[in-house]
Amino acid sequence: MSESEVLIGFGSNLGDRSHSINRALQALFRLAETSLLKLSSLYETAPVGYLEQGAFLNGVVQLKTTLSASQLLTTLLAIEKSLGRERLQRWGPRTVDLDILFFADRVINEADLLVPHPEIVRRLFVLEPLCEIVPDLVHPVNGETVADLLNKHQMSNPLEEPCRMVSAPLDIAQSKEKADDGIFYRYSESG
Ligand code: AMP
Repeated sequence: MSESEVLIGFGSNLGDRSHSINRALQALFRLAETSLLKLSSLYETAPVGYLEQGAFLNGVVQLKTTLSASQLLTTLLAIEKSLGRERLQRWGPRTVDLDILFFADRVINEADLLVPHPEIVRRLFVLEPLCEIVPDLVHPVNGETVADLLNKHQMSNPLEEPCRMVSAPLDIAQSKEKADDGIFYRYSESG
């Protein structure tokens, strides 16, 4: 069965945000068909879209998986559901949101799955952590690297509030041995 390298974006702005993110990462970590390759730092970002909500914690993880893209999407939706995600409002508060950003160099245009994720180029909170772990990754549609996309975004949005790095990730090599800890970031809501 062929393996694909995949990038997943994650975010939370409800409840104990880093706890939810740690649990989502642990669920990904425990998938038999999947291993974690790289994990970005954790960033705090102002909400986009619906502004009357709390700040998000966001990051990006790179995986290697034998799952197909649609199997991975089903898995991510199941993890979101198990963590109690409420879908009250588009772009509204969520316990945890998981998006497939890139699936190898594939371009997928299906009713329930768009890859690369169409919002990548517009979201600083995705571009910053992506650039931290895979700056040279080439977007398969527009041919630009992630570093170029971040640079362009910053040039055209000079007044945008920057993402604030709040926690370095656990060393992935270390987390391979400590699969059951489920602590990928050490961040406390109370500071
Ligand atoms: P949202 O709650 O805004 O993250 O939207 C979730 C829905 O977006 C899912 O039910 C998917 O069917 C759809 N979707 C389309 N493309 C993607 C993608 N690349 N990653 C995750 N969900 C996607």
